[in-house]
Parts: sequence; C-alpha cells; structure tokens
Amino acid sequence: MLLHGPSPMQVAIDSAWEFQGLTFPNPAVGCSVVDQYGKIVAVGVHEKAGEPHAEVNALQMAYSELTGDSAILLLSDSAAIHDYLRLNHKNIFVDCTLYVTLEPCAHHGKTPSCALLIKELGIKKVVVGHRDPNAEAAGGIKLLEESECSVEMDVECFKRAEDLLRPFTRWQHKPYVTFKWAQRLDGTIDGGTISSHLSRINVHAMLRLRVLKSLLYTKKTPAYLWSPCNLSSDRVAL
Ligand SMILES: [Zn+2]
Repeated sequence: MLLHGPSPMQVAIDSAWEFQGLTFPNPAVGCSVVDQYGKIVAVGVHEKAGEPHAEVNALQMAYSELTGDSAILLLSDSAAIHDYLRLNHKNIFVDCTLYVTLEPCAHHGKTPSCALLIKELGIKKVVVGHRDPNAEAAGGIKLLEESECSVEMDVECFKRAEDLLRPFTRWQHKPYVTFKWAQRLDGTIDGGTISSHLSRINVHAMLRLRVLKSLLYTKKTPAYLWSPCNLSSDRVAL
C-alpha cells in the first residue's frame, strides 16, 4: 500500500458521500480498485438506484485503465458492463484488491450480483467496510470466501463506513430527516443565497429524484411544509 495520502477505503468513503441521499432507496457506496503495487487504479461510486453499483463502476474504469480499451466506457447498463468484463478480463484483476465500503451484493436485483462478478474475475482479495444489513442483498462475503477470495473487514474505517450507511439503515424502518441550515456569521439569512453552489446542487438533485418527500421551509415567514413538486428553485436557494 502507498504510504502517503488517504487509504483506498477512505477514498471510497469520501467519493460515496458525494452521492449521499441521491441513491435512495439504495445505500451510498464507494469502491477503490488497487493494483499489486498499492496504487489506486480506479474509484467508482453508486450514483442512482437501478444504475451500476460502485464495484461495477470502479471495475469498468479500472479495466479501461489497465488495458487501454476504452470501449467499455461507452457502456452504462450494469448487465452489459458485467458481460463485457466477464468476456474480456483476461485475468488482469487477479492481483488487484477491491476496497468496498459495503459488502458486495449477492443477489440479482435491478442489476446482477457484484459478488458473483468479483468471483468470476478471479479477484483474490476484497476489503469490506461494513456488512450489508439488508438480508435480501447480503451474502456476498460468504459467496466470495467460498470462492477462494480473501475477505477482510476494514476495522480502522468501520465507524466511517457505518456513518456513510446510516441514512440507509435509518430509512429501512423510519423516515430519514435531512437538515440543512444556512446562516451567515452575523445571523442573517436574507438578501441572497448563503450556502455553497455544491450544497444547492445536492438539494435540487434530491428534489428532482423525489428523495425529499416534503420540505420545511423557513425564511422570514413562519415554517411551512412544502411539497417539493411545487417548489421553485429560489425557495430552496438558502
Ligand atoms: Zn452490488
């Protein structure tokens, strides 16, 4: 492993946070692919439910980096990427290690099983940040261990992987409340936008994807409960 910079698991966690909330009802997940010299070859994240999982996005990018074959980057369908990797990998991933923030899924849901793909690519080591609390998708660790793949739990990053997973574990049972506070140092909230451009992009993306079911909006006026469908952009521009 390289001695400098954040660990591959930390990089995967940080990358996944950029899509926190946008993957609803799936968890935010990140994955780093590391070569035999300890270099991070690729990082992938799960961006949206129904789209490729973090492992698939990371392996797609790593394949292109390691082979120079960029044709795979034209694929966006998860099953198509799985098939391309299965047919063309030529054992290039054998000495790679995968760092995944969440146990690779074992089941075939909207997309094929990541654990099965990892097994078929002959990857010998996977480091996992947190076990999958969803019984339907869990079982990837068992599947990998049965296929001579060494699976290691990242004890050092467990707490951070758990924090990343917290919204998902929460909305499995109860509504998940997102709280955004925007205020200047002098206490004012009027006279234009306050929070960062990135923050506003994130809130609007959550509205667009219907992740936010309702919004409590306060600005000068008393608190109102708005339906996100009827919200104009200026009302969430804090
Ligand atoms: Zn998966």
